[in-house]
Amino acid sequence: MSAPDSNLEIIQVKYGERITQKSVVFHNYADYGQPDGDLHMEYNFWVIRDGEKVMLLDTGYDIPARDWLGEQPVKATPDGLALLGIDPLDVSMVITSHFHYDHIGYLGLFTNAQVVSGQMEYDYWFGKWRDDQLEGEFTIESDLRNVKQAEDEGRLRLISEPTEVYPGITVYPVGGHCPGELLTLIQSRSGPRIMTVDAAHFYEQVENEWPFFAFTDLEEMRQALSFITKLTADTGATVIPGHDGRVRDRFPQVPGPASEIATVVG
Ligand SMILES: [Zn+2]
Repeated sequence: MSAPDSNLEIIQVKYGERITQKSVVFHNYADYGQPDGDLHMEYNFWVIRDGEKVMLLDTGYDIPARDWLGEQPVKATPDGLALLGIDPLDVSMVITSHFHYDHIGYLGLFTNAQVVSGQMEYDYWFGKWRDDQLEGEFTIESDLRNVKQAEDEGRLRLISEPTEVYPGITVYPVGGHCPGELLTLIQSRSGPRIMTVDAAHFYEQVENEWPFFAFTDLEEMRQALSFITKLTADTGATVIPGHDGRVRDRFPQVPGPASEIATVVG
C-alpha cells in the first residue's frame, strides 16, 4: 500500500541516549540462549511535516532536570526544534504514544496543538493520579497537568479504536507496555512507516516478538508485537522501533545544522 501522492515527511530527532544491555531490557532474555551485548538506546521524538504544516509524535523531556535511568542529554527538545526551524507554537498536532516521562515531558510547549492520546492511557494514569498512586511510576503529575490543560482548552482528542487522525496518519491503540499506547502508521512520501515507539523499543523485539522488561500486561505486550508483524505484512510498511540507535544507521541525516540529531526516516 504505497501513497504516491503523500507529501508527509518524518524526521526522527534524538534528544538523549544511554548504553544498556540486552539482558537488562529484554524480558527473560536468558531463556533465548543468546549472548548478551550492549544496546545503544536513543531517546527520540518525531517531526511529521506536510508542507508548511508541522506535527509531532511525542515531545521528549528535560533530561538534566531529573535522572531516571542515567540518560545522557544530547539536545533539548526546544533546541532541536530550533535547529529544524520549528516554533513550538506552530505545531498543530502532537500525538502522544503514551504518558511515560520520556515521551510527554515537553508537552506544555505546544499550546496551540491538538493533543492525540489513547483513551485507555488517559483513564489509567489519571486514575492513578486521582488515587495518589504515581509514586515509583514512569509517569509524573506535572506531565499529566499538561494533558489536563489540553483537555481543559478543548485540545485533547482521546482515541479508543484505530483512527485516521490526519490524512495518511492512523493510530492504533495497543496495550502491554502501557494500557493505552498508540502505534502510528504513517503513509510517508517514502512509503508507509510503522512508528512503534515503546510497543517495540528495539529491532530485536520486532524481528523476534520479544517483550520488553517493563510492561503493565505481558500478554497484551505479546499481542502488540504480533500486531506489528501483521500490520507490517498487510501494509508493506517499514518498521521504526522507538529507542533503537541503529535506526540512524539505516536512514539519511537531515542536511544542515540539525544533521547530528535529525534523521529522515520517511
Ligand atoms: Zn520510552
